[in-house]
Amino acid sequence: MYDVIVIGAGPAGSVTARTVALAGYDVLIMEKKERCVSPCAGYINKTINMDIPGESVIQSNIKKMRTYFPDLTYHDFAINGFVVDRPLFDTDLVSKAIVAGANIKWDSPLVDICAGNPGNVKFRNGNMIGKIIVGADGVFSKTASIIGLEQQRFAACSQYHIKDIEPIPQTCEIFFNADYAPGGYIWIYPTGNNSAKVGLGLINCKKSPRENLDTFITGSQIAHRISGKRTEYITGALPIGGLREKLVFDNVLLAGDSAGMADPITGAGINNAILAGELAGKTIIKTLENDDIARLQEYETGIKKLLGRPLGRSLEKRKKIDACNNQLLQEHLPELWVTFKQYWK
Ligand SMILES: Cc1cc2nc3c(=O)[nH]c(=O)nc-3n(C[C@H](O)[C@H](O)[C@H](O)COP(=O)(O)OP(=O)(O)OC[C@H]3O[C@@H](n4cnc5c(N)ncnc54)[C@H](O)[C@@H]3O)c2cc1C
Repeated sequence: MYDVIVIGAGPAGSVTARTVALAGYDVLIMEKKERCVSPCAGYINKTINMDIPGESVIQSNIKKMRTYFPDLTYHDFAINGFVVDRPLFDTDLVSKAIVAGANIKWDSPLVDICAGNPGNVKFRNGNMIGKIIVGADGVFSKTASIIGLEQQRFAACSQYHIKDIEPIPQTCEIFFNADYAPGGYIWIYPTGNNSAKVGLGLINCKKSPRENLDTFITGSQIAHRISGKRTEYITGALPIGGLREKLVFDNVLLAGDSAGMADPITGAGINNAILAGELAGKTIIKTLENDDIARLQEYETGIKKLLGRPLGRSLEKRKKIDACNNQLLQEHLPELWVTFKQYWK
């Protein structure tokens, strides 16, 4: 029997697993895929106490975000972060969990959880027993659906890594244009060596994100800047419905995208997933030390205290941005995007 079974080896799962394993408890991570492959643009904000990833993981340091209105006028804002190679970043995090003592089974998708404490967790290739189960299995969380929760609202995303272009150094570029990315935006994130990740996220669109992205790359007013060699196409989704109301269900808890922790406006979810993993880990340690499963509730309280307000504000903005055509974006973007001071009023 394991003290903790973590479903999913993304940032939320790996950080939870590492934190608990460091305290000497038996931890098992069950990951659906054969290795870390998260589809992502990989921008991460530097935060205090952050474990900075190694040089091989960082593709570019970032000092500025340039946000474009539909008419291509723009607004610059100083930020401090980096663009990472996301599969390498996740591999690094999961390696740290393994070094701390966690076990991992790859290619092992969750199939079912039989209620009870300890819980019987069924995978495609067997059963495992765990005192506490952490659903860190992303936006379409199987854990959440087994508990009976509804699927979250999501933005659909597509991205290429484009080579032989000259992105603005150390700058994340964000384009708002409802013709290409209704309800979302297009991004260009530099990755060094004359290359950038160019992608978009959109909501409720008849055309696929890939069709829209291809049209943007070949037919937009900035096409000449991004007409390089398109490589590494990825597609993915992120939650935009805000924080789930409940995060703890007896001995099962949700962390990261499975709990709706990505920002409903920016789509950024890596920092929050790491933060959730740390808090989940610390709360689980206290729960195990005291042999009192009710203490898991402290995780939900703590997350709501930390993320409730910012994610709540973002969800309100999301309702407004959903209804924006280009004319409304041109007028109201400062109230709807995080780099403008009007957003925070
Ligand atoms: C195209 C795109 C670009 C993005 N860009 C950024 C960005 O620049 N910055 C940012 O902060 N955020 C970005 N995000 C969001 C970010 O990727 C997520 O918020 C973040 O990965 C959440 O981490 P997580 O650990 O909760 O989930 P995930 O990273 O999604 O990890 C979940 C893990 O669970 C596994 N899993 C799923 N189902 C099962 C199952 N049934 N059994 C076992 N394992 C399972 C998955 O394979 C995966 O490894 C982007 C998302 C997309 C789609």
